[in-house]
Amino acid sequence: MSTTIRSIDCLQLRLPFHHGAPAPLFAGRPRTTLDSGLVRIELDNGLVGWGESYGAELDALSAIFRGRVAPLATGRDATDPALMASLERTLHNMGRSGPVLHALSGLDIAIWDLKAKIAGVPLHVLLGGARRTRLPAYASLLQYYGDTALVARNVERALAAGFEQVKLHEKTPEAVAAARAVMGPDTPLMVDANCAWTADEAGEVVTRMAAFDLHWIEEPLWPPEDIEALRALRVRTGVPTAAGENASSVHELSLAARARAIDYLQPSAIKSGGVTTLLRLSRECAGSAVHCAPQSAFFGPGLLATLHVLAAQEDEVHVERLFCDLGFTPYGDTVPCIDGAFQLTDRPGLGADPEPALLDSGFVRRI
Ligand SMILES: [Mg+2]
Repeated sequence: MSTTIRSIDCLQLRLPFHHGAPAPLFAGRPRTTLDSGLVRIELDNGLVGWGESYGAELDALSAIFRGRVAPLATGRDATDPALMASLERTLHNMGRSGPVLHALSGLDIAIWDLKAKIAGVPLHVLLGGARRTRLPAYASLLQYYGDTALVARNVERALAAGFEQVKLHEKTPEAVAAARAVMGPDTPLMVDANCAWTADEAGEVVTRMAAFDLHWIEEPLWPPEDIEALRALRVRTGVPTAAGENASSVHELSLAARARAIDYLQPSAIKSGGVTTLLRLSRECAGSAVHCAPQSAFFGPGLLATLHVLAAQEDEVHVERLFCDLGFTPYGDTVPCIDGAFQLTDRPGLGADPEPALLDSGFVRRI
């Protein structure tokens, strides 16, 4: 049966969410939905594969798919090992990051979903086989802007939901103290600063946070590309660092992994090259001091792809799970997060397709 790509579509997913506080800011605007592109590839043999692309600006992503990616990839063999590299090379003049790379990331995930469906196996089998099928997650709280009461209340909720680790998106030692007071001394606590500080500013605030025993400090510095400053901060404070979600390509991430500046490398499946990127970095980090701990603040096929890579990875790290309520929880019945952990299915490919109820909801737009 032909494995030629018949069609490629990018559906715009905008998932409403609630995190128990007013909408947090994202890229200068209040954020009320979590947005990504659902990538659907259909083959001539009727098989359908699903991927996910980062969708900070979905109309830009759709334009890249419609105008560039779909015309180049349609008619190609989905099982051709050279396919993704050839697309990347053809499009390289459009930039090595941003919506082009995000589109290729979603395409890569859908291609891996198809490869595993064609082989009739769960994706992790193609990645070396699962070392575990239960994947513990950490609760990744959204921003409460230093409101210590809201931080404490939501940390309490996360622990009650069964999560073994908690990450804050906060920037004050007081917020970290509030979380630690609720958690007790033994539960790992991480802080994601979203590039809050210059190198000059970071030393003092991270040192104050360190008093509350941080498992890692994530993206403390602006700009995130300043790996030298990150290494210096790590030495000065002794706090393990995490970074990588804003790196532009697998090559930048690979260099960062070797720079002795990052303890937890965080490639994003939907931003930085899909399963191929995660797999390469997972293997490069194996046996080294660097843990491959992908960023996964999303809920579609990119999250499932991340689960499969981490299932096959020797080094067990917790999966990032945004701690919020969704208008619709993708894979809520098929691959749910229960008691702070995901359980992979035995079904071929990613293990589940997006639900018809999601695709027919008002949260998905076909354009
Ligand atoms: Mg982050």
